[in-house]
Amino acid sequence: MRIESVTPIFIDRYLFVEITTDTGIVGLGESGAWGFQEGTAATITRFAEYLIGKDPLLIEHHWQYLYRWTHFGGAVVMGALSAVDIALWDITGKHLDAPVHALLGGKVRDRARVYYHVFGETTDELVDGIADARRQGYTAVGHLTPFTDALRTEPYFETHVQKIRGAVDAVARYREAAGTEVDLCIEIHRRLSPFEAVQLGNAIEQYTPLFMEDPVLPDNIDEMGYVASKTTVPIATGERYTSLWEFQMLLARGGAQLVRPDVCIVGGITGARKVAALAEALHIGVVPHNPLSPVSTAACLQIAATAPNFVIQEFPNDSWGEKGDMRPEPSALVSGAAEHDGEGFVTINDLPGIGVALQPGAAERYPYRKREILTRLHVDGSVVDQ
Ligand SMILES: [Mg+2]
Repeated sequence: MRIESVTPIFIDRYLFVEITTDTGIVGLGESGAWGFQEGTAATITRFAEYLIGKDPLLIEHHWQYLYRWTHFGGAVVMGALSAVDIALWDITGKHLDAPVHALLGGKVRDRARVYYHVFGETTDELVDGIADARRQGYTAVGHLTPFTDALRTEPYFETHVQKIRGAVDAVARYREAAGTEVDLCIEIHRRLSPFEAVQLGNAIEQYTPLFMEDPVLPDNIDEMGYVASKTTVPIATGERYTSLWEFQMLLARGGAQLVRPDVCIVGGITGARKVAALAEALHIGVVPHNPLSPVSTAACLQIAATAPNFVIQEFPNDSWGEKGDMRPEPSALVSGAAEHDGEGFVTINDLPGIGVALQPGAAERYPYRKREILTRLHVDGSVVDQ
């Protein structure tokens, strides 16, 4: 079997890759470098120069070759490599008539617990989102910020005490709305400094969140380790890390109790599986990051299916970034999309490969929507993280 073509495909806000072979088998992958889709597509096209004519079954070799042939890396390159890796696993599964999880050692679970995405510009909207999740049968909510998802066009200002006490009060309301039937995955989106993160973490311990995600910018791993050492709230991080080696440094410094590899930028199924195994050695849980399409979800579910230390899967629902920015219906985008079973889980399917394929005409129905370069400013004019 030989690779015949490697094609980046823009659909809606997503970037996919389709790899065709001389046997007629087609593999599908997705990139997670969503801020730089054009650059990633160009990198995929560059990788095609190497891949065309090669045996698609030599996944690890191609991964090593493309990672190591030159000294550049980062999210764009790794987004491209991840998309290619997922597509090669998809091809391999279809070639062997087996789901990818069967090739990774077989399923250790039949369904994956998921968390519901909650967005809101006010605390009331976020509380409503939790109630909505409960009604639908979810047992966890995530993307749940204690600071609200205010518009990025609104200048920001709060005093320190407003910022911290307001966040604590919001988490109290979330717990009240969630009861003990729903876990809270608190998303900080890198808004805090290390001392703020420690104050907030200690103040919300009483509400028993499942985790506090990205309390500080992930660039300095020692700072994440400092925060993790000062609070009993589990720290979840890793969505921006693009390699196994960054995760090794994070865990060596005690920076996380839960790791969040993004299958679509950490090196695909190959990379994420290694991160999961690294974490397993330390009894650290895995919560695959997944803000993307049902293709990413399908790739994540191969990790969920096979990693003994899998904890919960991010399962995006209806919006993206700003509230109300609706996604295409999963079933309109792909066949085989994972569906919530009404009990807080999705079933892991046993279809060959990753189990999903683009619907015919999806690219025409959902033309590419470039993400605007927009971030929030402080009232003093400086950039804030949100
Ligand atoms: Mg996050």
